[in-house]
Parts: sequence; C-alpha cells; structure tokens
Amino acid sequence: MNETSLKKSLSKLKFGGLRYFDSIGSTNDEALAWAAEGAADFSLVVADEQTQGRGRLNRKWFTPKGSALAFSLILHSSEAMRPYLSRTVGLAALSIAESCSKTGLDPRIKWPNDILIDGKKIAGILVETVWSGDELDSLVIGVGINVHRASIPPRELLQFPATSLEHELGRELKREDILFGVLDSLVRWRERMGRDEFIKAWEDQLAFRGQQVQTFAGTDIPVMGELLGLELDGSLRLLDKHRNSVVVRFGDVSLRPSA
Ligand code: ADP
Repeated sequence: MNETSLKKSLSKLKFGGLRYFDSIGSTNDEALAWAAEGAADFSLVVADEQTQGRGRLNRKWFTPKGSALAFSLILHSSEAMRPYLSRTVGLAALSIAESCSKTGLDPRIKWPNDILIDGKKIAGILVETVWSGDELDSLVIGVGINVHRASIPPRELLQFPATSLEHELGRELKREDILFGVLDSLVRWRERMGRDEFIKAWEDQLAFRGQQVQTFAGTDIPVMGELLGLELDGSLRLLDKHRNSVVVRFGDVSLRPSA
C-alpha cells in the first residue's frame, strides 16, 4: 500500500481530506489534531504502520508495518447524527462487519468495540471526540483491522485471541479494497443511523447473543447475565440470574463469555 494505490482504490468516495503516512504514532492522534484545526467532514488518516497505536484506556493496539489497516475517520456531528451519537461505535462496527461478510466471512461484534471471526479478534474500534466549548464538534473513529497474516500479534501480548482476514479466508487480500469496503458501507449506514433497522442490524451481529457473559467495568466484580440485545442508545441488555433486565452502559466495559 502506498499513497497512490490508496487514492486510486478510494477514488469513488468523496473525502474532506486524505492524509497518508508510511509510519505514524497513532492515526487517532493525527486525526484529533487535524479535527481541532478544522478538518472537513469525512477526512481520513491512513498509516501503513503505527508505533503508538492505542486501544481504550491507552492499551496498546499493534499495527506492524505492511500488514494491517490502521485508519481514523473524522466525522462532523451533523444535525441528523446528533441525537444518535451514542450509536457511533455501532456505525463503525456494522461497517467493518458488513465489509468482512462480503469477503465470505461470518463476523460478530463483541460489544462494544471489537470484531471477531470464529471467536478471535480481527478488528478494534476507538471512538474519540473533539469539542468546541461544550459543543461536540467532531468524532474521530479509529479502526485497526488485521488483514495480512503478519498483523496478528504474538499470543503472549494479548488477553483475547486474535486472527487476520487472510488467515481466516485462506487467500490474499488488498488492504485498500478492505478499506474501500468499510468506508463505502459506513457512508450508507451513517444515513440510517437514526433508524430502528440500524439497531436491529447491529444487534443481529452481536457475538455471544443468548449466551451467558460477564462484563467488567473498572472493577474486578463482573456484571453477569444472558446477553439479550441492545437498548436504543446502543447500551447492552443482559438478563441476570434473577430474571431482571440489566443495562450495561458504554464506558470501559470488557465483555467475556462466561467460563
Ligand atoms: P478489549 O476490548 O479487549 O478490552 P481494547 O478494545 O482496549 O481491549 O483493545 C486493546 C487490546 O487489544 C490490547 O490490550 C491487546 O490485548 C489487543 N490487541 C492489540 N493489538 C491487537 C491486534 N492487532 N489484533 C488483536 N488484538 C489486539
């Protein structure tokens, strides 16, 4: 992947701006700074390598050179999107899942921010925000997708198993094509963010649905229950052992299947 091949593959999409880096600390950091300087809606930062890629709570996200997709998309919070901003992570998750499905795979969304194939992590999402005073100005959707086999981090560095698209498919892929697929899908889902079908599609792709899960939100004491689905704001709905409905809100929540 290089700037020329990238621009060619993405030529059907209308960007506010596009910045490509052979190597960068973090595409989200670049996008946050660009957004703060007034980047136009649908501006994109792409890098071949991230040396300081971040997950939530500054956990590390690995993007070795030449093997993965790392990009950050800047979206302005339009009037139409504003009531549904809590669905933004779902927008990214649905778009990644849809483009993976098109390659023939069967992805699942590990709420709130990971994509799994066959129970292994293939992609992660990190949504961050830029404010002007107390008004939300822009959203930055950071995405890492393991495309080539060399993008899979060593097992000992991970708390959750990982895989790559090529490993799961058994054939080669072009990163630019996957990126086009994700963004093309995102453009369409963005228009439908306020619709019930958006929540339905997001819910239909959830991993562990109908299964017992545990969620950890900052403490060692898990909230446990059967994963039922989503609330309208994208929060997770569980059914606890007393048959009470429990809502798990966004935040730093880690979800795991119950042993
Ligand atoms: P989680 O959702 O598992 O709580 P995050 O969403 O914050 O965690 O993502 C960061 C975590 O993802 C890291 O701590 C690491 O275990 C894992 N990770 C980092 N890079 C990759 C990668 N390229 N593929 C799969 N998993 C990764």
